[in-house]
Parts: sequence; C-alpha cells; structure tokens
Amino acid sequence: MADAAEINGISSDWDPDWILTEEQKELKAKLIELCKTTLRPNGIEFDKSYEYPRKNLEALASMGLLALHVPKKYGGMGQNHTCCAMVLETIGRYGCSSTTLVYTMHLLAVTALLFRAEGNPEIEKVLRRLNKDVFIGTASYSDPETGSHFWYPMASSAEETENGWKVNKRSSWTTSGGFADFYVAQTSSPDFNGNFADLSVFLVYKDEIVSHASTWSALGMRGNQSGPIEINGVELPRDRMIGPPGDGAISNDEAVDPLTLVLFGASYNGIALAAMDLARTQVTRKVHKDVGMRVADYPTIQDYFGECLMDTQASRMYTFSCAQALDQATDNCDWERQWRDPKWLPRTSLLPWTWMVKFIACKNVYNVVDKMLQASGGTGYKTAMGLERILRDAKAGWVMGPTNEVLRQFVGKAVLLGFESLDYWNQVVNENVLNNEIKKLDADGKRKLIAELSKDLD
Ligand SMILES: Cc1cc2nc3c(=O)[nH]c(=O)nc-3n(C[C@H](O)[C@H](O)[C@H](O)COP(=O)(O)OP(=O)(O)OC[C@H]3O[C@@H](n4cnc5c(N)ncnc54)[C@H](O)[C@@H]3O)c2cc1C
Repeated sequence: MADAAEINGISSDWDPDWILTEEQKELKAKLIELCKTTLRPNGIEFDKSYEYPRKNLEALASMGLLALHVPKKYGGMGQNHTCCAMVLETIGRYGCSSTTLVYTMHLLAVTALLFRAEGNPEIEKVLRRLNKDVFIGTASYSDPETGSHFWYPMASSAEETENGWKVNKRSSWTTSGGFADFYVAQTSSPDFNGNFADLSVFLVYKDEIVSHASTWSALGMRGNQSGPIEINGVELPRDRMIGPPGDGAISNDEAVDPLTLVLFGASYNGIALAAMDLARTQVTRKVHKDVGMRVADYPTIQDYFGECLMDTQASRMYTFSCAQALDQATDNCDWERQWRDPKWLPRTSLLPWTWMVKFIACKNVYNVVDKMLQASGGTGYKTAMGLERILRDAKAGWVMGPTNEVLRQFVGKAVLLGFESLDYWNQVVNENVLNNEIKKLDADGKRKLIAELSKDLD
C-alpha cells in the first residue's frame, strides 16, 4: 500500500466541489497530484523518522501556497476562507497529516500578521518572503501554567523599553518549534496591571527564541515537532509588536481563532476521508473464497461506510458552510478593508460557529478511523496498510487547543447561561458558589474569614 496511486478510494462524486470556483478546482487538482507524488510518500517517511516536514512545505511553496490568503499586492494568492478549507482537507486526505498541522500553524501565524499588516514594513517584508524563501511561521500561545487555556499566557510578560519591547515568553507547545523561521507569540501587555485579558502580540524570529528542537516523541503527528520554546528577555524593535498594545484578544477573536478552527476542521475531515479511502481499497479487494464475496459485499461493512460517509459529509458541509460565512462577512477575505477600518471585525460574531467546526470534525474523525479499522480487519491493524498511522494522527485533533472538552463547555455554558458567562480570564465572581460556601460557615468561621479578608485588604 506504499504507492498512493494504488489507493482505490471514495470517488469524487462525493466531493462538494460546487462550492469551489473554477480557479479553486484547478488548484485542488494540482494539489492532489502534488500530494500523491510528494507529500504522501514523504509523510509516510516522516512518521517513521520524526523528520520535520520542511520538504513538504517547500513543495507547497512551489505552488505559492505559503501565501495562500495573502493579498496579491504582497505576492500572495489572495484566496478566501473556502479555498483555505479546501486546501487543508486535500492535504489531510491525500497528503500528510503532520503537514496539515505545520501548515495550519503557519497560516495561523500569517493570519495574525495579515490582520495588522499595513503600515508595518517589518510585517510586509515577512509576507513577501513566504514563498520565495520558504519562510515558515508558527504560533506560540500555549502556556505551561495554564495548559489547554492557551489564551491565558500567565508565564509571559512584556515591558516597554526606549526603543521597543522586552519580551519574556514560556510556551509549553509550539508546532515547528525550533524549525520555523518566525513565531507569533502572545504575552500580557507592557502596561499589565493584573488583567490577563490585556494581551499583546509579537513577531519573533528563529534566532531570538530558545527551543528544544527534535525532542518531539508522541503517539502521532510525528513530523509536527511540537515543543516548548522560550523567549528570554529579548529586546525587540517597536515594529515587532503586531497591532497596538492590548490587541491580543481582538486578534484571537477576529483573525486567528475563526480561521484556525476552520482549518483544523478541514484537516481532520480530510484525515477521516483518508481513512475511508484506505479502508475502501482494502474491503473492495479482499475476497472470502468460501462464500464468494468481497468484504465490501457484506451489509455490515456497507453500513460502516454509509454511516461514516454521512457523518463526514455533515462535518465537511458544516466546515465549508462556516468558511463561506466567513467569506461573505469579510467581502471574500478582504484584508484591505480591514486595514482601512481597524474597527471592522466581521469574523468575531461567527467565532462560536467555528468552535463547533473543530469539535464536530475532531469527534467524527475518532469514530471514522475506529470503524474503518474494524472494517479492514487484522490487515488494518498492521502498520503496512497505513490506517494505524492515520488513527494515531487523528487522535491529535481532540486534544489540540481549544480542546474538545473546552469547546463543549463553551457551547453548553453559553447556550444555557449566555456568552457573558464564559469568563475566559477567570475574572467574574461566581456569587452563587460564594454565597453557598459562606452559608456553611458558623459565626467563628465567618469572623476568621472577615479577619483574613481585612488583612488582605490592608
Ligand atoms: C500535536 C500538538 C501540537 C500542538 N501545537 C501547538 C502550537 O503550535 N501552539 C500552541 O500554542 N499550542 C500547541 N499545542 C497545544 C494544544 O493547543 C493544547 O494547549 C494542549 O494540547 C493541551 O495539553 P495539556 O497537556 O496542557 O492539557 P491540560 O490543560 O492538562 O488538559 C487535560 C484535560 O483537561 C481538559 N480541560 C482543560 N481545561 C478544561 C476546561 N476548562 N473544561 C473542561 N475540561 C478542560 C482538557 O481538554 C484535557 O482533556 C499542541 C498540542 C499538540 C498535541
């Protein structure tokens, strides 16, 4: 099963290509070819060797894809959210899972730059280098002290200096850590006064970080080389702050999160389809001579495929629908309008819709790879078929921030108690809990509490 050309997967009759423009359909066809000749064979090797997928990023750069949604005036392809989703789904399905993750983090970093690009020559320079120099970006958000709450960079800080900023950052995870050329990092703002909602965003280069490259050892996504990084009191010039001080939360809600969640969804939809393609190949080939039937002829196996495809199509359609909603809201990903009017934040109100994209796709891929493994029997369990690798890679989706537990909480809480109840930075006192606990105290307990609070106030 080493040769991708041998795969007899689900036909293109099941692809919702009507959502693509003619140009995007051509791009998809070219990309599928590149996946078959280059990305997939490389990906199989990266899984064995843990090699960082730079070769695949070089291949993507050769098609201009490192600047996929960058405006043409910066040498980009000027593509929209729908196209970004199509590209990630295609790489996930026909190419390499680690590449989807590395490339998603790259596009995330580029998005953070694009949001506040104009008028900042340093950012404009980076945007122009993306394809030409295979200049790879990543995002360093997750903090060792706050785990999955990656929007809460407790172990990070910044201060204003005479010529710019002095930045301290500790991050527990960074895909491409030590391999990427530039890093988008969030810290508390230079005028920090205890409010962790006040975040700022910085552009940092490879030679300014301390990394532990090549130490990644994990169940799957073996090429992604995620690892801790540090920025230790590095002095950055003024133009390395992306946007104004305090722009972090806006950057997350408006730029980084909506697109990234759609890209995660698209990637894991692609990975679910990759599992189905491999399993289809297996079950249509394998014959039981005693009964004269292929595995694919059993209704049980047909049920597996029917259910998995319908669930995956629902996830794909939801992903593409959100991508289209982002396109509509942004005049087809018009960054220039956003530069003219920095208060125009059209993606922000769609953010909760994109939470659900990631949750649904990462939940679905779990079920699909599991069922495809069952349908493929013992052969599926063996490394050679490739399903075992896909199963390991697919597991990363659920735990990637925002994790599916966190997303489920967000949606459940918001739907029951309203969006204001979400309290990302743990700032709102829960009066019900507080009063309930105080109710349990006797007079001595209350006096002790009053004494402690008075001491605290003093
Ligand atoms: C392959 C890979 C690549 C990554 N790359 C990057 C990257 O490039 N940049 C980056 O910033 N981060 C990256 N991350 C980190 C990722 O985004 C998460 O922050 C990380 O996976 C969380 O792991 P943890 O061990 O800190 O989990 P913990 O925070 O310890 O979580 C443990 C469990 O608690 C659950 N949980 C946590 N908070 C809540 C809550 N409020 N409600 C309910 N349940 C909760 C979690 O869902 C999980 O099940 C990467 C992670 C992986 C696995």
